[in-house]
Amino acid sequence: ADTFHFTRASLPRNMIENSMFEEEPDVVDLDKDSTVVYEPRSSRLLVRGLGENDLDDEEEDYESSARLLGMSFMNRSSTHNPSSSPYNRQAPPRSCSCSSARMLVVGVFILVLVASMAMALYFLPGCTFTKAGCGKANSSTPMEPSYPNSTNGELFPWNELRLPASVRPVNYDLSLTPNLTSMTFTGRTVINMTILHDTKRIVLHSSELNITKATFQDKSVEVKVLEYKPWQQIAVSFPEDLKVGQVCVLTLDYAANLSHTYDGFYNSSYNDKTGAKRVLAATQFEPQAARKAFPCFDEPAFKATFLVRITREPGYITLSNMPQAKTTTLPSGLLEDEFEQTGVNMSTYLVAFIVANFTSITRNVSNTLVSVYSVPEKKEHTHYALDTASTLLHFYNTFFHIDYPLRKLDLVAIPDFLAGAMENWGLITFRETSLLVGNQSSPLDKQLIANVVAHELAHQWFGNLVTMRWWNDLWLNEGFATYWQYTSLMTEFPQLDLDNVFLGVRFKAMAKDCLNSSHPVSVSSQVTTPEQVSEMFDSVTYEKGASLLLMLKTTLPDGQFRKGLIKYLDNYRGSNTVTEDLWNSLTQVGVQESVSDMMRTWTLQNGFPLVTVSRMGGHVTLTQEHFLLSADNATHTSNLWHIPVTYVNDSCSSAPSCRQIFTLRNKTATLNVSDSVKWLKFNYMNTGFYIVHYGDEGWATLIDALKTDINTLTPHDRASLIHNIFALSRLGRVSFRQVLNLLDYATSETETAPLTEALSQLSSVYRLLDKRQEQRLVARMKVYIWGHFGQLMDSQDWGEEESVSRQELRSVLLEMACSLGRQNCTDQATALYDQWTNSNQTKQIPGDLQRVVFSTAAQSDLRWLSLMEAYSSTTYDSEKRKILQALASTQDPQSIVCTGLEGGIIQTQELPLVISTMSDGFAGHLLVWEFVKENWDRIIEKFPVGSYPIQSIIKSTTSQFSTQTHLEEVQRFFSSLKERGSQMRSVQEALETIRLNQLWMDRNLPTLRIWL
Ligand SMILES: [Zn+2]
Repeated sequence: ADTFHFTRASLPRNMIENSMFEEEPDVVDLDKDSTVVYEPRSSRLLVRGLGENDLDDEEEDYESSARLLGMSFMNRSSTHNPSSSPYNRQAPPRSCSCSSARMLVVGVFILVLVASMAMALYFLPGCTFTKAGCGKANSSTPMEPSYPNSTNGELFPWNELRLPASVRPVNYDLSLTPNLTSMTFTGRTVINMTILHDTKRIVLHSSELNITKATFQDKSVEVKVLEYKPWQQIAVSFPEDLKVGQVCVLTLDYAANLSHTYDGFYNSSYNDKTGAKRVLAATQFEPQAARKAFPCFDEPAFKATFLVRITREPGYITLSNMPQAKTTTLPSGLLEDEFEQTGVNMSTYLVAFIVANFTSITRNVSNTLVSVYSVPEKKEHTHYALDTASTLLHFYNTFFHIDYPLRKLDLVAIPDFLAGAMENWGLITFRETSLLVGNQSSPLDKQLIANVVAHELAHQWFGNLVTMRWWNDLWLNEGFATYWQYTSLMTEFPQLDLDNVFLGVRFKAMAKDCLNSSHPVSVSSQVTTPEQVSEMFDSVTYEKGASLLLMLKTTLPDGQFRKGLIKYLDNYRGSNTVTEDLWNSLTQVGVQESVSDMMRTWTLQNGFPLVTVSRMGGHVTLTQEHFLLSADNATHTSNLWHIPVTYVNDSCSSAPSCRQIFTLRNKTATLNVSDSVKWLKFNYMNTGFYIVHYGDEGWATLIDALKTDINTLTPHDRASLIHNIFALSRLGRVSFRQVLNLLDYATSETETAPLTEALSQLSSVYRLLDKRQEQRLVARMKVYIWGHFGQLMDSQDWGEEESVSRQELRSVLLEMACSLGRQNCTDQATALYDQWTNSNQTKQIPGDLQRVVFSTAAQSDLRWLSLMEAYSSTTYDSEKRKILQALASTQDPQSIVCTGLEGGIIQTQELPLVISTMSDGFAGHLLVWEFVKENWDRIIEKFPVGSYPIQSIIKSTTSQFSTQTHLEEVQRFFSSLKERGSQMRSVQEALETIRLNQLWMDRNLPTLRIWL
């Protein structure tokens, strides 16, 4: 799956993603009063008050809270007339309603997006929280020696979350009859299996399915099915042993509701161009939701073949993993589509089916028919995805020496979809924003689509063909898919400039992995509960995984990495692996055993090393330690890594051939260089996953070298120095003055990678000071930024730009300039916006400038309103998303959005994006934390505990706190959740981050006062 496309790295709002300074302090230290302020009054109003008659009381609450926050609320006394707003036509009954009075009087009526989210969640179709449904089955229950009770009171014959290994499914025959009117479905699953060990029971998964009939072997012999709901298991017991080698058939008939969350077999809808609501049904099974669509052995190692039949009404199409084999007209007039049986064994989480009215475009690539499906009105936005997928399919077929094994490959844009995309074999599903892009869109927009397509296609080999045995080794899927996504694009689409993106990804992975709450990419501790499984889908698994593969690749002689991977795919095609299998495959192609030893130190330990360099003439001493940001001095680890330390020196420093390698295996080692060497730069191109400290003298000589000749180091190496020095300052190893010393060279910098990194780091510091209301420092920081980068910002062109790298740089520079209020920037942005609206949106804004233009426009009330209109009318997904971010970026705490997610204007899938964008704002982040606390139960009905959206929501709402009061409050809130989320790793991360923020403020405020 691809979970990391909520935002792309960009400045200033999103650049925080790539920063070591992700955590920022709160707006104000509210001290003791804050507990009053943080009573969730305002958000209660936002949820319940609007559109109801109790508004006045609640509004007063809101106002008093607001006063405490020092906010002024205009227009609060207006009446609520549901018919007067242009934005509530789509709103569901009882949804919020907006006043026309203030529009008429002030001409402004702005809505807080939070409110719409609140409404949407409040009025969600009647979902009730169940333990089984929301994936927190007995997360902390220790293994009981006795068996639990089934639903019917009888003993359930199994007492572990993992299934017994005595039975193996061979083939599933699935028949599904969805009803898109009643939003229900019935199904029949016929499972052929073999018995591996004598056993008296068959245990498998089933969740929220009402099993109506079960037969064993002969279809006339009914058997009793026991169910243990907390673990989503069902079982059939037999009086006599089933014998080893025996072949059995279990047939289960069942009925269920189509899910209204984003997993299982779920219903989704969209409004077509006439405004009519169209419904569809699609699936999302990874990691553990296949069991919600059909009873199955829902663990990745239980691979089997599948034959799928789906009944539909005429007017719909159905899709599944395999090509359609035949269609039969049933007596009822409905049609039954039958798909070919899969020719390959696959894990249950990769099964997929869709019932919708989509249309497609197609192309043949070797023996595979590639198609891109979308809702009919977006057909014209599918061409880029088809081109990209075709090119990449050819690339992977060739590179991996194994052809994609299916005859067709569908890429489908689903109107409401939670992850970025999902790699179901032969039927890859995407968010519309991850797949659809107009041909006229900017290369930067296309880069995002190419990224997701490349990731999912790589999974067809790494994940689908060879699958990790269990979720603790998820990095074997996701680390590889992430690695290949960049590598394949760098080869096939060099103009997309992915090497800069990949560098940012390495920095981002470090930002998470330097916390105590991080985990090894290959987890040896327990990953058992649904929550623990969900939490594996994080930045460490994806991005650190990919970074380690890059380090491995650049350590091996040319061609060996590829050879080893081809061996790995060939050895394990159709089956499952653990991390050790990867190292063994490498050894089989002649890679030294020491490389496997090296990689174990990286995959089995969390964190990464700091290498400290000290030099005495020709003797260079390297010392390693765990780079751990910790507020707690007691947290020392003795972790050691085998570090492939690379370096260049002043006589040969930028060409790849200059690179030398030294493996640091121990705590300390000495490297000998010639006395005449003036300086050394370690971690060439930043392909190693470690940070380097050069000591005072080492830094000084490097800074001198850069000031003399900027090109003495590659742009990646310059970015690497900037990243490292900020990280060291965060660790307390260098002063902020040293950071500023290095940045002095950057006035002559023009390259994207170093500038992006510098601006991202500075913006973090800026925002940190801003939130702390350190107005004097904020002003001086601005002067500093203008002094170093103002000229570059002003010299940016606002016309079309072809180079992706230039686009990235320009959007980063301008987004920072405009958000800090540089007149030149805001004038240009506003002018472009007005041209766009005045020309009825025919005068296009260059894609890379859309976000800065929209966000600048959104700061004006009137333009905010016109943006809202543009949001509901535009069909261009990439543009739409940027408008949404702009809408959410309003600094206006009294603005209230009443569009209502369920009203069809803003989709629930965008909640994490809206929350993170709002959290960036001064006032917004106060509101969203309240919102999250108030609506926690409703949020986790939509987004499972532990899932990436939840990780994102927790991070964006808490990572800016820096006071003891907030620390305690966050702690209190999450521990009160108990099984509803208190055990999440992201909670540990949030608390750790707040502590580190406190420490950072204590340590750096005085320094900044002196040095800025
Ligand atoms: Zn993935």
